[in-house]
Amino acid sequence: MSVSPTTEVGFPRPTQQERTTVTKRNNTQTASIPSTDSNTSHTQSMSKPSTSNSRSSTNTALVEDSPQLISLADTEDLDDPDNGLSGDEVRKKTEEGKLLQDANYEHNSENDDEEEAGEEDALNPAVDIIHAIGRRMEQAEEFVKKGWWEIVHHNHLPNWLKDNEFLLHGHRPQLNSFSDCFKSVFRIHTETGNIWTHLLGFIAFIGIAGYFLSRPTIEVQWQEKAVFSAFFLGAILCLGFSWVFHTVYCHSERVGRLFNKLDYCGIALLTMGSFVPWLYYSFYCELGPKIAYLVLIFTLGGFCILVSLWDKFAEPRFRAVRAGVFVALGLSGVIPACHYVIQNGFWDAVNNVAMGWLVLMAFLYIFGAFIYAIRFPERIFPGKCDIWFQSHQIFHMFVLAGAFVHYHGISEIANYRLTLGDCVEAVVA
Ligand SMILES: [Zn+2]
Repeated sequence: MSVSPTTEVGFPRPTQQERTTVTKRNNTQTASIPSTDSNTSHTQSMSKPSTSNSRSSTNTALVEDSPQLISLADTEDLDDPDNGLSGDEVRKKTEEGKLLQDANYEHNSENDDEEEAGEEDALNPAVDIIHAIGRRMEQAEEFVKKGWWEIVHHNHLPNWLKDNEFLLHGHRPQLNSFSDCFKSVFRIHTETGNIWTHLLGFIAFIGIAGYFLSRPTIEVQWQEKAVFSAFFLGAILCLGFSWVFHTVYCHSERVGRLFNKLDYCGIALLTMGSFVPWLYYSFYCELGPKIAYLVLIFTLGGFCILVSLWDKFAEPRFRAVRAGVFVALGLSGVIPACHYVIQNGFWDAVNNVAMGWLVLMAFLYIFGAFIYAIRFPERIFPGKCDIWFQSHQIFHMFVLAGAFVHYHGISEIANYRLTLGDCVEAVVA
């Protein structure tokens, strides 16, 4: 039997973090058992001061009925001075239990004679309990080391993790460890699709930005690189904040809230970054409108970031408000678009400044936000979209599609403008 480094006092004592994680697991196990009556009564009996005898009889019954119900939380009580056992006594009994466990294992594996079985029956029930607890403690320690956890039902989430009541099963519990959160990227749960949609987009935009910015100057001028960088930065930050938020928000309420704000700020940054190349090339030779609209979008974007930092903004009841705020930020682009159409005509806008692509991009963002706000299709099929095809994944896909369409659109505008040559005279005029 392997002995953990934490067993130097004879009883494996998990750290606070391990204890929280393991207790979560035990809660999960208990919740998954159809009838929790025995567990409830057990917990109650363990929570009040009692003699070691009454504790032993309760525990013995439980071990016989369902060894699964022995939890780490229960074992901690044994180390409490109230239970009537000193630390040395607990240690001694635990060691006895482990020795017996080894003996029992050998006994069972060799299929020995009945004489030893009779001796086992005669052992003190308290030793049996400690024996079972020791085994469970070792298993629990192994689970913690391996980042083991089970998906849980929505009803068993803490309130701060409850966001969408139409997703019933497959939620991660609170994980309390960044390592476990990042390992969960490779497991299947309600956030798997949300994480990977934007993680892959994040990687894709890093690749595109790296390729674009590494072009020789003779091919792409530094001005183009600077203007496009605003868009790349917005896209990479938005997608990066998003997948990291969906990965770590189950760590703790404080961490979840912080990264939720970064996630919202990312949307505002993507919108602002998207406007920069579009305004730059659409009003290439008109410094006044270009500056005015850039100031407008950065002011509105800054306002959205401020609103995002408000704690209540992330609450589920403000879902539609959030969608509305970011759609409004994007739709502020209607003002410069109208300006361009009035000044240059509709077909000029369509043919020369990729207005069609920009309208498609706006449609994708708005439709995605609409799906996000109404939570379709899980609203119609609760429990059927827990892992795949839930509204948030669809919203993520639309954001991703919108970003790629925008990149294509601004590339076309840039190509068109750059073929027209300089506009020194127009600027002077
Ligand atoms: Zn998201």
